[in-house]
Amino acid sequence: MEGAKIVAVGPRLEMEREYKGARKVARPNSILIPGLINTHAHIPMSLLRGIADDKRLQDWLESYIFPAEARNVTKEFCYWGTMLGCLEMMLSGTTTYADMYYFEEEIARATKEAGLRGVLGQTIIGFPVADAKTPADSLARTEAFFKQFANDDLITPAVAPHAMYTNTKETLQACRRLANQYKRPLLIHVSETKRENDDMFGKHGKSPVQTLADWGIFDGLTVAAHVIWVDDKDITTLVAKRVGIAHCPSSNMKLASGFAPVVKQLAAGLHVGVGTDGPAGSNNDFHLIEEMDLAAKLAKIHAMDPEVLPARTALEMATVHGAAVLGMSDKIGSLEAGKLADMVFLRSDSSNMVPSFDPYSTIVYAAKGADVTDVYVNGEAVVSSSRPVKLQSAKILAQARGYQQKVVLSLSQKR
Ligand SMILES: [Zn+2]
Repeated sequence: MEGAKIVAVGPRLEMEREYKGARKVARPNSILIPGLINTHAHIPMSLLRGIADDKRLQDWLESYIFPAEARNVTKEFCYWGTMLGCLEMMLSGTTTYADMYYFEEEIARATKEAGLRGVLGQTIIGFPVADAKTPADSLARTEAFFKQFANDDLITPAVAPHAMYTNTKETLQACRRLANQYKRPLLIHVSETKRENDDMFGKHGKSPVQTLADWGIFDGLTVAAHVIWVDDKDITTLVAKRVGIAHCPSSNMKLASGFAPVVKQLAAGLHVGVGTDGPAGSNNDFHLIEEMDLAAKLAKIHAMDPEVLPARTALEMATVHGAAVLGMSDKIGSLEAGKLADMVFLRSDSSNMVPSFDPYSTIVYAAKGADVTDVYVNGEAVVSSSRPVKLQSAKILAQARGYQQKVVLSLSQKR
């Protein structure tokens, strides 16, 4: 590689003959893969990890998450939560992630310090939240965020209307206009629960996908998270609108949201990436290797057919599909000359990695986050020999424990 880019990929002897590198990094017992792409997360919620498990989505949101957020989410909370999340993501092989939360400029600051790539969506939601009193305030914050990170080599600012059921038609359309004006992505939760679909049918007489399409919300780069309760007509619409899908298997299982029809979606020509969601309760970690493994297995049990989503497809979902979902196919997602050098070394000499008959099977079904040894973003090492290069783990963990005490205290106080 040269600077941030990959110059060539090939057999070692050929590469050594053709190129004289200034520096050589030898990793003889390793598998080199593209940096993994997490297409859906709420990174500062790492500080609320496991705050309320084993609940229904609406109960979990309304009884636990929204109150905990109302009392605790500040700029500092978002900064340190992002630091914790970035530490976990990089140590388990993620180089790019998409986020939907508040104070995204703080999330961007922390992500840059960590050295990771982020598609960061400022949340727009129909009630007062930590960083804004109204959706209009949030939209103004988003525009300022777009301007602040107009030309950044790591951060792609985005707008993230939380969902259809938490925003009005007018707000959603304002989000789309703003995203298109600045040529930025729009991130949104779509058809996550059956209840969401039933409510929207009751209100609009159509599915969330059809309603959002009619309102023009998909007319521009869109990343739709979950997309579980969709029928064939919805899938056809999503294909026509080129909507990218963020499939979150852990979250869908843990909240019992349902089986996302990912095999149908892929067959129809949609790009389907993998996301962790969470980690406050919908999933308690940010390990993308685990999500690939679960994406493959969940599709198999849904279809009662082990052939429907093979290991290679699962790896493609977490790499090339993920890049396409985020509108970054020309830059990341594969190890090719001309692309940015976002890459991950997995050790191939740990007990769970030997023997290896098929590299795809090894990576998706046998590898663990702990097998990640080295991670590069833009050609720069962010993890070296299983240690973060730019982040101080001890300091971040101490902050996270401090926030745990604050959160517990805040929830014990009556309002
Ligand atoms: Zn989510």
